[in-house]
Amino acid sequence: MSKARTEVSAAALRNLPSVDEVVRGSVARRIAEAAGETHAAKLVRLAIESVRKDIIQKNLDIRTRSSAAGLIEAKLKSWWSSEKLAGTRRVINATGVVIHTNLGRAPLSEAARRAVVDEAASYCSLEYDLEMGKRGKRCGCVEDLMVELTGAESALIVNNCAAAAFFVLNVFAAGGEVVISRGEMVEIGGDFRVPDVLSQSGADLREVGTTNRTKFADYEKAINEKTRLILRVHPSNYRIVGFTAMPSLAELSNLAHSMGILLYEDLGSGSLIDLTSIGLTDEPVVKDSIVAGADIVSFSGDKLLGGPQSGIIIGKAVHIERLRKHPLYRALRVDKLTLSALEATLRSFRRGAAENDVPVLRMLSLTRSEIADRAGRLLGKLTGLTNLRFEIVDGVSAVGGGAAPSVEPETALTAPPVIARIVDDRVMIDLRTVAEADESYLTEVLRTLD
Ligand SMILES: *Cc1c(COP(=O)(O)O)cnc(C)c1O
Repeated sequence: MSKARTEVSAAALRNLPSVDEVVRGSVARRIAEAAGETHAAKLVRLAIESVRKDIIQKNLDIRTRSSAAGLIEAKLKSWWSSEKLAGTRRVINATGVVIHTNLGRAPLSEAARRAVVDEAASYCSLEYDLEMGKRGKRCGCVEDLMVELTGAESALIVNNCAAAAFFVLNVFAAGGEVVISRGEMVEIGGDFRVPDVLSQSGADLREVGTTNRTKFADYEKAINEKTRLILRVHPSNYRIVGFTAMPSLAELSNLAHSMGILLYEDLGSGSLIDLTSIGLTDEPVVKDSIVAGADIVSFSGDKLLGGPQSGIIIGKAVHIERLRKHPLYRALRVDKLTLSALEATLRSFRRGAAENDVPVLRMLSLTRSEIADRAGRLLGKLTGLTNLRFEIVDGVSAVGGGAAPSVEPETALTAPPVIARIVDDRVMIDLRTVAEADESYLTEVLRTLD
């Protein structure tokens, strides 16, 4: 480094304020109010250090003490605003992917939100029977509702469907064999791969058939004295089409029972009601699996059920009771917030009001023309823009849980960030997943981008 440059750096370094000086400034004080003195002081030290590095490594020239302070405060401000975005923030989902795992899957119904805030967040009758005035059964009400809605003998709620699958396989199949079709050895997303869950649970895998075709006889031949259960997995995010074959659940149930083993079906999204009327033609309905004779069925609480994250296990009472008494249940059971949200969601189903009350189902049932009308009205409010150009194009939303769309934070201004989809270099805003109440806010956000 030349002598002149060293002198410039030395002068710039002398202009750096002390930690104390910056801590007393308005930006640091605002951070301290929200995040505490210790955290504010830590950010201040890091900001000063980062400017010091720029001076030494990039030869940053700072002529006055106030410009040094300005640079440091600017850094603090920008770090603080990104910190405010970290954590769990409400966002507006404009991707059109209804069950969006990255965005928290199912938004809760009004009733579920109220149940969490007004009932469960306080002391509540989680394990207390108000009528008898003594200790009651945890989850009793939710389980009764689930039984009523599915026709199963009994129900149990755990943390998520992955926990449900692990639990069932561990308790009923560890040390033995599980027969499963090669067409169902699927990865549901991220960390849920059927073969991995099986090996974690301590069960040995017995694959039968081929990717596209598995026959009754394939299952029949695979069953031996070590076989504990037949596992059926709904390949949620994936379809095998064309030259295919798979025995029906009822056939497998007959086979399992004639051999003295269990039939367990992991349904995944688990729809409580028939959704063919809103276009979901190949989503199995939970009740049908019970009718077909499955001994145990599991599904998620936050996919097509539209409730909080949870895993539902239903089936024959003897098996469900064995799970309930198992020591692992204590580690997998859900908390009061989940239970109360799930209870409220199930009450909507029992009233026959789910398609209206439960956001996931309401969004899925919106028709193309309803969404186009809303888009038209939104565009009507976006007149007088100079740079942005909006048009309504045909497209497809997605139920979700499957392939992740390309997602980008469209903006991160004050309140909820808007997450949109990018297709062919254009930002797509799909109103299917935007609550009507959020539309005027969305208009404001779009205006600020102009
Ligand atoms: C989604 C899914 C799971 C995992 O459910 P989580 O509730 O996310 O744990 C398991 N099995 C199937 C078939 C699924 O679709």
